[in-house]
Amino acid sequence: MKRRDFLGVTALGVTSLAMSGCHRAEEKHKDGSIKIQKAKKVTLKLATSWPAHFPIMGTGVDNFAKRCFELSDGSLEIKVYPKNILVPALQVFDATSAAQIDAFHSGVYYWKGKNPAFSIFGGMPLGLTSEEMITWMKFGGGYALWREMYAKFNLYPLIGGTTGPQMGGWFKKEINTLSDLKGLKMRIPGLGGEVMKKLGVNPVLLPAGEIYTSLERGTIDATEWVGPALDSMMGFSKAADYYYTGWHEPGSILEITFNKARWEKLSSQHQAIITTATEEMTGTMLQEFRYKNAKALQELPKNVKIKTFPKEMMDAAKIALQEVLTQESKKSPDFKRALKSYQNFYNLNKPFDDISTKNFLEIRG
Ligand code: CA
Repeated sequence: MKRRDFLGVTALGVTSLAMSGCHRAEEKHKDGSIKIQKAKKVTLKLATSWPAHFPIMGTGVDNFAKRCFELSDGSLEIKVYPKNILVPALQVFDATSAAQIDAFHSGVYYWKGKNPAFSIFGGMPLGLTSEEMITWMKFGGGYALWREMYAKFNLYPLIGGTTGPQMGGWFKKEINTLSDLKGLKMRIPGLGGEVMKKLGVNPVLLPAGEIYTSLERGTIDATEWVGPALDSMMGFSKAADYYYTGWHEPGSILEITFNKARWEKLSSQHQAIITTATEEMTGTMLQEFRYKNAKALQELPKNVKIKTFPKEMMDAAKIALQEVLTQESKKSPDFKRALKSYQNFYNLNKPFDDISTKNFLEIRG
């Protein structure tokens, strides 16, 4: 046996033997070394909602699959299929639920039509940041609720990356007062879109490939997307001059979700490797977004003016958000439960955040 192979399996194998007992057989040699037989090879099909190797999100999931292969010493192979190869981009949830594929990588807020509560697990306007969302999931009860609600669809979710703070979007005209929003056509999905609707905006949904042309031709007046790194690739600065700071997606969560029955059939070692690889992926994606956004901001063309929405608009947005949350809570008991858990964490976290991060950033200036 090659020395590299021996070291590779020993490092992971000893723990897995102790924990799972039966996934690897070991055999002692005369010289005292232990030969551990490789775990049975498992191949899984994972479909995404992104084009092949799409920057940050797509390359993030490519790297996740590579890490699962490396950490399992080749016994866990996850084949990544970009959008529309196995299933259309927004049918990955249904296809995994029906066990047509084993897993998917997508954005959580796409599935609010399945259960309104899912929009809370994806992140909320004026709410928790990426780091706070992950903390709520892992320590504040978010994961338990998300997994309970996804189990009804035969799904098992894991956080599969997060975007960090997103920008408020590109506008062709400057927004100086609340009334400047009246009748504006803007591409903005999710709860942010519902809040904007209450402020007089006409929110529209467009496939990614049609946003730039619609903005350029004036079919829409504004659009949000992600942040400087990915927005620059879309060329929005050629169609709009005003780039607004964010409020509606402070920490959107992406997911790597498995068919639950398939997940439960995996060895505890493979489950641990996947869990570890998603945590690594989430941390790395957040750092990559931060670095590339910072760099892309420096490189925006001269015509772009960075603006912050007027205070009266944000005050109105806070009121509108509460109305949306109350409406959704009345319609859906699951939404009400998820919101309660989310708010409990928000209230627990805020006093400490105020005297630590927020206070420090003000001091640092
Ligand atoms: Ca967005």
